[in-house]
Amino acid sequence: MKRIAVVGAGVSALSTCDALREGGFDGEIVLLSGEDGLPYDRPPLSKDVLTGAVTTRDGIALRPADWYEQRRVELRTGAVVTALRPDEGVLELADGTELTADRIVLATGGTARTLPVPGGDDPAVHTLRTWDEAQRLRARLVPGARIAVIGAGLIGAETAAVATALGCAVTLIDPVPVPLTAVVGPEVAGALHARHRAEGVEVITGGVERIDRAPGAEEVAVTVTGRPEAVGADTVVVGIGIRPATALAEAAGLTVDNGIVVDAAQRTSHPRMYAVGDVARRAGDPVRHEHWDAAQNGGRAAAAGLLGAAPPARGASWFWSDRYGSRLEGVGSMADAEETVVRGDIASGAFTVFGLRGSVLVAAAAIDRPRDIKAAQRLIARVVPVSADRLTDPATELRALLRG
Ligand SMILES: Cc1cc2nc3c(=O)[nH]c(=O)nc-3n(C[C@H](O)[C@H](O)[C@H](O)COP(=O)(O)OP(=O)(O)OC[C@H]3O[C@@H](n4cnc5c(N)ncnc54)[C@H](O)[C@@H]3O)c2cc1C
Repeated sequence: MKRIAVVGAGVSALSTCDALREGGFDGEIVLLSGEDGLPYDRPPLSKDVLTGAVTTRDGIALRPADWYEQRRVELRTGAVVTALRPDEGVLELADGTELTADRIVLATGGTARTLPVPGGDDPAVHTLRTWDEAQRLRARLVPGARIAVIGAGLIGAETAAVATALGCAVTLIDPVPVPLTAVVGPEVAGALHARHRAEGVEVITGGVERIDRAPGAEEVAVTVTGRPEAVGADTVVVGIGIRPATALAEAAGLTVDNGIVVDAAQRTSHPRMYAVGDVARRAGDPVRHEHWDAAQNGGRAAAAGLLGAAPPARGASWFWSDRYGSRLEGVGSMADAEETVVRGDIASGAFTVFGLRGSVLVAAAAIDRPRDIKAAQRLIARVVPVSADRLTDPATELRALLRG
């Protein structure tokens, strides 16, 4: 194997490159980034970039500039791949050139979903996936600005929190009364959602029907189902998930079903092609994991597959999210839990919910309790039987439960 081409340069792509070199791959690695500049990390976009704590793109670079030379990774920026010919190992680029590779890793991520309603494309409507989008939005978050955030998932909630901290008047709109319940369980989801109101955000439950702008008006009006008065806003932020960037894979005939379908070593339905990160979904897994840690782990698994090694053992999926100075963390799949139990005091705002299936821990979600999550990760991985009583007893050291 002489050359591996990686399409996209997010965290999953760079993790793939790192793991390939660590695994001893000595051939060429060509990293094709559709964006300009040094590849950057996305989680800070809705945190330190939006608050203004980080003002340069290099401040969120995934790797320093000299890493590419040290790792012998040929980074091509502004290199958009427009088509693939997997049987021949050919990548066609937007500039008309072609590249041939023995193996191709698709790490194309996704794009923010837009709001499919009249006015959803008004210039006041923003999404948040890229550095440029973060810059445009940041400029709008000035004290007193009225910001309507549509979608109270992870990115919508983080944006609402930052906008509030910056002195904006924020309205958060979501059709679900308590968003994220399926992901973190009702107790954590309820506490998170209640926090918005406590911080001064107006929370509206309802679906957005349309966004209107009167001729010459600076502001827009967001119409929510069942509400006679539209919500006035200077800026609208839409945080309703992503569309995985599967177009290349589909056109190349790979199996795509809510993401490019891959096996445990991130192999697609074509032997030359791998897929990692937000764009990939593991066969048998009902969801695509659109989280940083999953993207990083996917890169390691792909490198192992490419080098003919067994993919490293993968723990339960983990994510974090920051809002109002608190950290939410989740591990495992709450959807698999038959029962949830609480450790800590919900009223204090810092507590953990464990999801049990029989006597086995399958998930945990916590607000500001990182040690509980660390222990939960190990308990889930080891599949040791645990009792709800011991999990919830503050006198029990969670680490002690690992002994069974
Ligand atoms: C604002 C924001 C905040 C987040 N916060 C958190 C968080 O707190 N915790 C957490 O766990 N996760 C968070 N995430 C999710 C996490 O960042 C993603 O899961 C991760 O970035 C996915 O990495 P990736 O490599 O799959 O794709 P991406 O980071 O999306 O990178 C894909 C790259 O591929 C490029 N590309 C696409 N098509 C082509 C093509 N045809 N040719 C060339 N290049 C192409 C794109 O331009 C892009 O640069 C956040 C995401 C966002 C957007």
